This record gives sequence, C-alpha cells and structure tokens, in this order.
Amino acid sequence: MSDKIKKTEDEWKKELTPEQYLVLREKGTERAFTGAYAETHDAGVYKCAGCGKELFSSETKFESGSGWPSFYQPIAQDAVETETDRKFGMARTEVLCASCGGHLGHVFPDGPKPTGLRYCMNSAALKLDKTL
Ligand code: FE
Repeated sequence: MSDKIKKTEDEWKKELTPEQYLVLREKGTERAFTGAYAETHDAGVYKCAGCGKELFSSETKFESGSGWPSFYQPIAQDAVETETDRKFGMARTEVLCASCGGHLGHVFPDGPKPTGLRYCMNSAALKLDKTL
C-alpha cells in the first residue's frame, strides 16, 4: 500500500505526547491498568492516536481483566495490519494501524466469541471519539 501516512520521527515526536510516541513509534507497552481506556465503557469509536483512522468500535470492547483495552475485532478488516513480533523470545502477533503504521498492541487467540480473538491494545495508541 502506497497511501500510507509517512512522517519523519522528528515530526511524530512533535505531534505526539511522549506516551503516544513510545507506543506508536517505538513499539512500547504502557503498564497494565495505567492507560485511559482499560476500563472504559463509553460508546464510541476508538481512533488511532497517531493519524485518526477509525480502528475499533466500543461495541466489540470486552472486559479482559488484562489492564489494557481489549476488543474482539477491528472496526473494519483493513483498519489494522499484523506482523509477527519475535521480541522477548516468543512469537506474538503485533497489530499496527493500517494507515500510519503505528504500533497498537498485539492480538492473541484467547478472546471471546464470535472471533475468539483478543486485540490487546495500548490506551496511548487510541483516542476515543464518543460521537458514535
Ligand atoms: Fe494511525
């Protein structure tokens, strides 16, 4: 895909908060239960904190108990992309914003029905738009 948003790291650094930059651009992980959305139940659309792309609906958010906002599917199939992440000696599936390539979190095969997936996201990578 060639229509991806491309910015220099300096540009990202200026636009994002330190927490957003650490997660989105440096693939960091916020500490469990510290993010803004882990236990949020408000209705709305979760957008990418980097580029504003719509990523997840509150309707697919569920209580995972993990301390990170968790969803069983993205808002659209092409909203996110995945890559194998072999850091820390394990193979995990990394989830990235399809529009800006920002790191969002990981997806695990232990989620609820109907997909059985658990998109374990960082609050810092998301921005909840409550105007559903
Ligand atoms: Fe994005």
